[in-house]
Amino acid sequence: MKYNLQFSFKLRGKFPQNAPEKIEEWLVELKQMLEKGINEKDLKEISRVKKWEIPTTSKKEDEFILSVSSGGILLPHHALLRMRKFFSGKFGKEFKLGISGIEIKSYKIDVDIPRKPEKEFSLPFASSIKFGDKVAKVTLDKDIPIDFIEKGAIDRLVKLVRNKVLEEFIRGKDEHHLVIWTSEEKTPVVKTNPTDNMIKEGWIQRTNYRNQWIFGPTITAVTEALKDVMVDVLYKPLGFKNMIFPKVVPWEVWKKSGHLSGLYQGGFEPYFVCTPKTHDAEFWEEIADYYRITLDIEPEKIMEKLRPPIGGLSYAQCPPFYSYLQGKTISDDSFPLLIYDWSGPTYRYESGAAHGFERVDELHRIETIVIGFPDQVKKAAQDLRIGFRKIIGEILDLEYREAWVTPWWISQEGSADQEDGKTVELPKFDQIGTIDFEIYMPYRGSRDSSDWLETQNVSILGNKYAKSFTVKSQSGKELWSNCCGGSFERFISAFVAQKGVDPKNWPEKFLKYIDELPSGPTFM
Ligand code: ATP
Ligand code: MG
Ligand code: ZN
Repeated sequence: MKYNLQFSFKLRGKFPQNAPEKIEEWLVELKQMLEKGINEKDLKEISRVKKWEIPTTSKKEDEFILSVSSGGILLPHHALLRMRKFFSGKFGKEFKLGISGIEIKSYKIDVDIPRKPEKEFSLPFASSIKFGDKVAKVTLDKDIPIDFIEKGAIDRLVKLVRNKVLEEFIRGKDEHHLVIWTSEEKTPVVKTNPTDNMIKEGWIQRTNYRNQWIFGPTITAVTEALKDVMVDVLYKPLGFKNMIFPKVVPWEVWKKSGHLSGLYQGGFEPYFVCTPKTHDAEFWEEIADYYRITLDIEPEKIMEKLRPPIGGLSYAQCPPFYSYLQGKTISDDSFPLLIYDWSGPTYRYESGAAHGFERVDELHRIETIVIGFPDQVKKAAQDLRIGFRKIIGEILDLEYREAWVTPWWISQEGSADQEDGKTVELPKFDQIGTIDFEIYMPYRGSRDSSDWLETQNVSILGNKYAKSFTVKSQSGKELWSNCCGGSFERFISAFVAQKGVDPKNWPEKFLKYIDELPSGPTFM
């Protein structure tokens, strides 16, 4: 790493004659101050003033220009903040002069990177980035505001350069995905596409909106039966409580949950929500009148009457829940908090053309959350995992497997290099990461060559959420969380893909939860 910063302190007046001598003296003092507490071996890495000048001008106010360079320790933009304090003390005392502002004249940073990215990129606030084999030469915009530095934005920008190079590399390698357990083979009753099957039977009907479906009475009864299974196998025995989470999510929540870093970068594709500029009837009258005459609307006209988005529709389901705990201290005996929510749909702007029932934009999901001390959270994750095995493998009697997938924010830390395709026993689930339950979809092809359907996940998230939403325990001990999500769309698609739509072929253990399957109207 190499940092070269040129900046100036703007003065409220002119320096006296003896200023240069004094400044030379103070620079020696400053050097000692900056070196304080630094290890001997790191001394050559810290910020050094390489050059300074007071340009002669006819202006009433002087400027004190400094060039500061460093390696990777005590960076110039951090040293600058200390220098501001140092020099305003000196100038005030000796010259009765104040510092009125700071101007960043140029900032060039050589960022060490693991390799040259295949696709070069630019970044906001950087006027250029030139990539070499092991280094990205970044030139920042001129006139960076000082509060940008104070808020840590330069450090995040440098980190982002490196992370983007790493992410490209990881993405290229696909998700870290390792099958850790596979159930016994089960002979499927059918080999047809479940979506086609359910349409044919009148279970589901497509609407005019992209891949949105209406659940008819039959599939709704199957959904309710599945809920009863969840309550019986998981929620009642483990002591979970039902809650209702908000489904409109303000930016603030997605800032804290970390989702915004991935906005439309391949893992977070939300629907945005806009509110009207005003509620005023007159403001909207032309739109209503236009409609009454033409029986049509002009969405672009409506757009002009909207405010920018306030956030979006619930995407991952659990983040908006955390506002419930945000900033609170909770008694130790309240933990673990065991909660689930299935109060409404969540939304994802999925890519691609038409998909089946298993990949929809409006999905109905069960979301399960646990918050507590690390041991409680690990134990609950293992209990939930065993419960989902029972539901998928025994009650629904499906052929499925478990895969260990490492979220990118972990694989980045380089802890997760695994050999693909090798099956290892993972008896306990007690580390940060995710287990996906994937169900075999016979219509897609052979077990080896086809994609299995990711239906349910169990994720241990560590202290990420508790920390960013500042949730504290009474004793001050660290809090962790886990969460699980599985949509009814995926569960039922997978079930129908193996078992078909005829209850005659369904497992007894599931039929126990269904009194009678209602049918919809007969469409002529
Ligand atoms: P995929 O890779 O298949 O898109 P994902 O990794 O995006 O899945 P998660 O973000 O882990 O899925 O979401 C958790 C669960 O939510 C999934 O296991 C699945 O049950 C459900 N889910 C996610 N996206 C959809 C969708 N578009 N339609 C239906 N269910 C979905
Ligand atoms: Mg997805
Ligand atoms: Zn979640």
